[in-house]
Amino acid sequence: MRFASASGHGVRLLLLAPPGAGKGTQGERLAAWSGARHIAAGDLLRAQAQAEGPLGREIAAHQARGDLVPDQIVLDVLTPAVTEAAAHGGYILDGFPRNLTQAIAAAELAARLDVTLDAAIYLHAPEPVLTRRLLDRASQSGRSDDKADVIRHRLQVFAETTGPLVPYYTERGILVAVDADQPPDTVTADIQARLSGLTRAADR
Ligand code: ADP
Repeated sequence: MRFASASGHGVRLLLLAPPGAGKGTQGERLAAWSGARHIAAGDLLRAQAQAEGPLGREIAAHQARGDLVPDQIVLDVLTPAVTEAAAHGGYILDGFPRNLTQAIAAAELAARLDVTLDAAIYLHAPEPVLTRRLLDRASQSGRSDDKADVIRHRLQVFAETTGPLVPYYTERGILVAVDADQPPDTVTADIQARLSGLTRAADR
């Protein structure tokens, strides 16, 4: 069963997850399932970082350290993609928002586009599991931030800066927490079951 938002105009989901929780994998699968576009903030920023010039260098430097890229740069990169997707079946935002300022910007953007956020999916797993996954993939990923010390820092940035968005979306009634310490297919099935439950609840 495909997920149809209560409004019937595509779906808008956020994927809130620490590094290594599998949000890229799940984001792609949910996009195929729902018909919405998968917009991965980290991927779009890595693509921009390849560009010559000061902006690309600034993004690359933040990413290599495992620090968040400044909010205004992130918004400039993501807004056109989100706007376009909102008009074509919706969006699955992977890795955005990552702090409170970005969460407010995401809500303002949705309001401007006259859409609502259906759910914020929080993928959680114990920190040793996340660390092991990230170290396991480090040799193949080719990413400047897949190094032991930077991985530690990225997990810390999540805990301190992005983690507070869990209570933020809980208070707004749209948090869907899913155990990501399971095989990828099980995680996908759990997310789909929870989202289908939301649709049914909205239909009542
Ligand atoms: P991971 O979740 O494994 O760290 P991502 O590809 O989502 O992988 O993010 C990699 C890096 O890209 C982050 O450490 C950060 O530097 C940058 N980044 C991604 N999304 C954001 C965002 N919303 N705000 C600021 N920086 C971001």
